[in-house]
Amino acid sequence: MVGMRWTFDGTLAEYHGWAGTTNLGPPVPKMVERVKKMLAEGKDVRIFTARVWPLRTTEQDLTVNAKRVNEAVAAYMAIQVWCETHIGKALPITCIKDYGMISLVDDRLQQCYPNTGVLLEDEVRRLKIGIKQAIERGRVTYNTDEDASAVVYMLDDLLGGA
Ligand SMILES: [Mg+2]
Repeated sequence: MVGMRWTFDGTLAEYHGWAGTTNLGPPVPKMVERVKKMLAEGKDVRIFTARVWPLRTTEQDLTVNAKRVNEAVAAYMAIQVWCETHIGKALPITCIKDYGMISLVDDRLQQCYPNTGVLLEDEVRRLKIGIKQAIERGRVTYNTDEDASAVVYMLDDLLGGA
């Protein structure tokens, strides 16, 4: 089924470093609300996380992965309980990217424009630099100098001083 995929750590649940297989962070309220909205619209929403690797992959049956499979099962159950508690229902959980995935929400993702090799974040950065330069060169009109300074200050912050 065509739908959206959400990674878990740092996206739906707060993540501040590994704290154990079943030790899950508290919900990120804004993101949980987004997921609830998608579910209310009837969208197929799934959790996409390496925490459940190698469940349902060919690696699952390899003896060498036995300990990992146990951890993955524990993680699967913990995430189900987390979803029931914070979202109101247990969502499908997978570590496999599928053809039905029309979008992915992730904290580490770098989005590119299809077939171009151009990263969205590079374009956003160029745009911020352009706005900053336009303000500094007086090409943008503000009500007060303080407003202009505030925007330049904000852009400096967003650009990391570029
Ligand atoms: Mg993550």
